[in-house]
Amino acid sequence: MKSCTALLCWIPFLFLAGNASSQSNPDSIYLKIRIFSEYPLHQAIVTPLSGDYDICHRTEKISSLAENTPLILLVNEKKIRIKKPAGSLGSYDTVYLRKEGAKGQFHLRAGKKERTYDGELIGFVSGQHLVLINRVSLEAYTSGVVQAEAGNGHDPEFYKIQSLISRTYALRNIRKHETEAYQLCDQVHCQLYKGRNLQQEILDAVEATRGQVILGPDTQLISAAFHSNSGGETCNSEDVWSLPSVYLKAVTDSFSLDMPGARWEKTISKNRWLHHLKERYNFPLQDSARLDSALNFRQLHRRPTYVNNIPLKELRNDFKLRSTFFDVVDQGEEILLKGKGYGHGVGLSQEGAIRMTRLGYHYEDILRFYYRQIRIDKIDTSLIPKRPLSVPPQPGH
Ligand SMILES: [Zn+2]
Repeated sequence: MKSCTALLCWIPFLFLAGNASSQSNPDSIYLKIRIFSEYPLHQAIVTPLSGDYDICHRTEKISSLAENTPLILLVNEKKIRIKKPAGSLGSYDTVYLRKEGAKGQFHLRAGKKERTYDGELIGFVSGQHLVLINRVSLEAYTSGVVQAEAGNGHDPEFYKIQSLISRTYALRNIRKHETEAYQLCDQVHCQLYKGRNLQQEILDAVEATRGQVILGPDTQLISAAFHSNSGGETCNSEDVWSLPSVYLKAVTDSFSLDMPGARWEKTISKNRWLHHLKERYNFPLQDSARLDSALNFRQLHRRPTYVNNIPLKELRNDFKLRSTFFDVVDQGEEILLKGKGYGHGVGLSQEGAIRMTRLGYHYEDILRFYYRQIRIDKIDTSLIPKRPLSVPPQPGH
């Protein structure tokens, strides 16, 4: 990030000043999200879709950009050269497309990808690449994340759940990319975000839960971990991330049963399985009692470890298994892994929550079922962390 040293002073100042301006008013909270972050960009074309934008270098206006007029941003010798159809506007270290109250939409094309975004756009060069940042209101961002993370066709109550999880995650992790001159990226490292959501059911759910977040018993924003399917029982946080949490406790979850991710099976050659145990975990294959336990392993309830205290989360990673909640069945030349659930198992089970919404449960009751001792409340900006948090990792997966 050598080339943007000056930006590190400028951008955080400009935007964090807005964040701290008011308590409990989600309209006053803006986020800086790095967009198109999975692509090495050299050029992008931005086109306003709702009125004019100001084209600024930092806070100084260079020109205006009228609705439906494309502006080309092109990396040129560690600066961005900007060009309207009428001609070049010069080269700058940063370009800021500003609109009063960030109330606008723009279209962005980079390579073959096209997306639309709410809010404003900032561009600067890092190394050889163009870095694009979307300055967007918390509510518009939440709507985009729910669309990208949950997809279409869900019950309104499920979208409300995802709205609270997304909003809570964004604020709790607002300093995750602080040293990189933005707050969150648009990939699963933070939360998936592909721009503006147009799906009405999601817009309604975000509006219905406007500004609501999930707080733990200590009144701090919670780490709203979720996964695809619990397999019938969720995990304690400490069994997966070695970090206990009063609200991320194991619960019996019959709602996840009879859902698509409830069961899985995988066959592995017995030689490969045992060789791996010996090589990686120094498993005593000569000990017949332990060998028998390893080949006939059962989890009536979730366990954190396999035979010989081998962490199940490591075996899951080694063999790319859907979950740690599996039995081992000896089948002669092979072993059969009979598994339950999909994902790490901590916090909310998405498929369990979907089942609960179909049964008529209210979104707050569903959140309280999966997260213990929580409180649902409006945002208080004083709760936004003052420094980056290190654990636990991203909520999903
Ligand atoms: Zn990230």
